[in-house]
Amino acid sequence: MIRIDQLNAHDDNYVYMIQHQNQTIAIDPGEAEPVLTYLQQQQRQLTLILNTHMHLDHCGGNLDLKRDTGCHIIGSDERIPGIDLILKGELHIPGLGELINVLYTPGHTRNDCCYYLPQGSALFSGDTLFNGGCGHVFEGTMESLYNSLASLAALPDETRLYCGHEYSEENYRFAASIEPTSALIHDKLAKIQQQRRLGQPTVPTTLGEERCSNPFLRCSDSELHRALKLEQASDLEVFTDLRLRKNRF
Ligand SMILES: [Zn+2]
Repeated sequence: MIRIDQLNAHDDNYVYMIQHQNQTIAIDPGEAEPVLTYLQQQQRQLTLILNTHMHLDHCGGNLDLKRDTGCHIIGSDERIPGIDLILKGELHIPGLGELINVLYTPGHTRNDCCYYLPQGSALFSGDTLFNGGCGHVFEGTMESLYNSLASLAALPDETRLYCGHEYSEENYRFAASIEPTSALIHDKLAKIQQQRRLGQPTVPTTLGEERCSNPFLRCSDSELHRALKLEQASDLEVFTDLRLRKNRF
C-alpha cells in the first residue's frame, strides 16, 4: 500500500509525500514548514528526501528537515543542499528495493531526474514535464529535454503525473494560442480554469491524457506541425519552436 499526499509550498510549488510501510519520503521539499506540519499530523518520521533537481524552490527545505528529522537526502546533482547520495546511473533508490525507478531527464538543468513508482502508477516529474507543458531549458539543450520527455511519455497511460508546479492554466492558455480551433484544448482549459476558480489543484493528470493534449508531447502530430506552419520540419524542430514560443508567451 502506497499513500501519496501533495502539499503546497511557495506560490505554486508542490511537495509530495509518500508513505510506504515504515518509509516516509518527501519529494522536492522547497520549504520545510509544510512537511513538518504534515509529519506531525500523520505521526510519521521523515526517512528520506528525494530531489528532482537543484533549484532552491525544490530543495530549500532540505537542510532544516535534515536537521530536525535526521533524514537522508538523495538526488542526481551534487549541488543539492545536504545531499548524502548522488545518483549516477542507479536504476533504483538504494535500500528501497524496486519501489522507485530513477529516470535521468537532463534538459531543465544538466542533472534532473524523475522518480517513477510502478506499484503506485505515479511519476514525480519535477520541472521536466508539467500538466500541459514542460520545463525551461536552463542548462541542457533542446535535444536533451526533448529526449527526456520522450522517455517519460513511454510510461503507461494510467501513470499519474505529479509535477513540480501548478502551471496548468498558463500552459493551456499557451496551447490554446497555438491551436485556437482545438476543441480538446479548449475543453481542457475550461476545466482547469474551473478547478482553479474553486481553489482545487489540477494535479495529478495521467500520462495518457498528457499524450493527447500536452503540445510538448505531440511534436510528431501533423495537426501541430500545420498549426505552427512547420509541415516539413522534424519533430525536434517543432519542439524547439514551441519551447521558444512559450518562452515569449
Ligand atoms: Zn527548476
